[in-house]
Amino acid sequence: MDRHTDVLILGAGPAGLTAALYAARAGLSVRILERSMPGGQAALTPDIENYPGLLSVDGVTLTQTMLKSAESAGAELVIASPTDLSLGGSPKTVKTEAGTFSADFVILCTGCTPRGLGIGEERFIGRGLSYCAACDGALYKGRRVAVVGGGNTALEDALYLSKLCEKVTLIHRRDRFRGAAALADRVRAVPNIELQMESRVIAIEGAARVEGLTVQPEGRPAFTLPADGVFLAVGQIPATADLLGVALDEQGYVLTDGHLQTNLPGVYAAGDLRQKQLRQIVTACADGALAAETVAALKNAY
Ligand code: NAP
Repeated sequence: MDRHTDVLILGAGPAGLTAALYAARAGLSVRILERSMPGGQAALTPDIENYPGLLSVDGVTLTQTMLKSAESAGAELVIASPTDLSLGGSPKTVKTEAGTFSADFVILCTGCTPRGLGIGEERFIGRGLSYCAACDGALYKGRRVAVVGGGNTALEDALYLSKLCEKVTLIHRRDRFRGAAALADRVRAVPNIELQMESRVIAIEGAARVEGLTVQPEGRPAFTLPADGVFLAVGQIPATADLLGVALDEQGYVLTDGHLQTNLPGVYAAGDLRQKQLRQIVTACADGALAAETVAALKNAY
């Protein structure tokens, strides 16, 4: 295996896979490094209804098709975790357990990871606590579950789980949802989704596994909500902690210019990890295409 490519893409979500497709089609040699499953957060979405051209598609099907497109164009996927990144000089190098890879250009597409509640909930992971309704929902067929959050993920998860579970309680800390109005309207119309607004989860109860939640409604006494499972959908944290030398904003998102270049020459960022207005699959794809085209224009001008 030639360990040097024109472009190294970190992350195989929609941004990384689109960048790989565009860079490979522009004639560049492209390697994608992904630490776990290709598809990123999009692959965890059960039902996507706002990707133009497709009425409805599940996240795994969409992202696996993106991967096939990128690979057919010539990009190579390597499943490996970067342990040491050297992005300041040229070539750029990335050490992994599968060896060290180098490239003239790097496109960072590491996306985001799910945020926690900070109430010690980690001990229930795999024991009734999940961050992915599409992955784990089937385990709760006919049971009572809670979804925590008020964004698009929480609304979509509640809708998805309502088709499987006896009852879904959606707990949100404010009186208005952050997610799209159309989704919120659909959630309100589902008989087995109960809304618990202006309420916070202050504890998860259970001995060996989740048995319920302690819910604190604003201005009223806390109560115990029995539940067999709890799905957390309280937002995302940019996966940028390892990107030493890359300029970030105060929330940890990568700062880029109009061509998606970071503060480091030859290092670009695309998708949810960068500071931007709208984080959607379609905007992640647009970022990936722009970063790849910028890199291709520079590379082909050599
Ligand atoms: P999000 O939009 O950031 O929403 C996070 C939600 O969690 C907010 O309602 C927030 O409450 C709540 N929250 C945050 N911290 C909390 C805490 N400590 N305790 C209780 N609640 C807390 O996150 P997301 O829903 O994961 O979506 C992430 C991005 O992906 C968004 O840009 C979203 O539009 C996009 N997305 C799009 C689609 C789609 O278009 N089909 C699907 C999924 C995700 P507040 O509202 O009070 O801040």
